[in-house]
Amino acid sequence: MSKARFCVGCGKKYYPNAEYSGGYPSQWYVWTEQGYHKDETFDPSYKRFHSKGCMEKFLSQNAQAFANLVDSISHNMIQDNNNQTIKKG
Ligand SMILES: [Zn+2]
Repeated sequence: MSKARFCVGCGKKYYPNAEYSGGYPSQWYVWTEQGYHKDETFDPSYKRFHSKGCMEKFLSQNAQAFANLVDSISHNMIQDNNNQTIKKG
């Protein structure tokens, strides 16, 4: 059952749960020699934009906040992967 959302960037209606055209950020996937892999933990309810262009425009216009978000997530991932505390410079 598809439930419509409105794009944060332009207000256009889109359907986050549609398999092939359902907004961004989209479910991560990659082709490898072992076959097709995608992030099964992805939750389509976190999509906020109808197109990649709308998402990129929003990120550009909010670059500082986005950078802070990325820095905080990356910092946490480094701690998780190495199991040690790394201080930010
Ligand atoms: Zn849009």
